Amino acid sequence: MSYQYDDQNIFAKILRGEIPNSTVRETEHSLAFHDIAPRAPVHILVIPKGAYVTFDHFAREASEAEIVDYIRLVGDVAHEAGVTPDAGDGYRLLANSGPNGVQDVPHLHVHIVGGRRLGKMLT
Ligand code: 5GP
Repeated sequence: MSYQYDDQNIFAKILRGEIPNSTVRETEHSLAFHDIAPRAPVHILVIPKGAYVTFDHFAREASEAEIVDYIRLVGDVAHEAGVTPDAGDGYRLLANSGPNGVQDVPHLHVHIVGGRRLGKMLT
């Protein structure tokens, strides 16, 4: 089965500049911006610029350059936000994927959440 990308999703519109965002950092292949409804003092979304629906879609079809750019941006943004364990109190990465993952926006995004103690998720 192939992945169906809806180019009318809200993050596609952000990437096209059709709606504004609060950019944290932009690279050749990726964009990091603040979540519009933050659930923690640090709540940043990182998306690839390419049309990928989920993490697995990205991992299977993106180029190595896109993947390296994306993973590095996630790490760099977490570090710059001051939440990494070497400089802060830790954080969580989350990538909701598909219906059971309760993914609302069908463009791959990793949530970087930190700045407060988070509850355990899988209990
Ligand atoms: P999901 O449930 O798909 O993993 O998360 C989607 C996230 O996108 C939510 O945390 C939501 O607050 C955020 N979001 C939805 N619309 C917008 C928007 O227009 N701008 C920004 N910056 N974030 C959005």
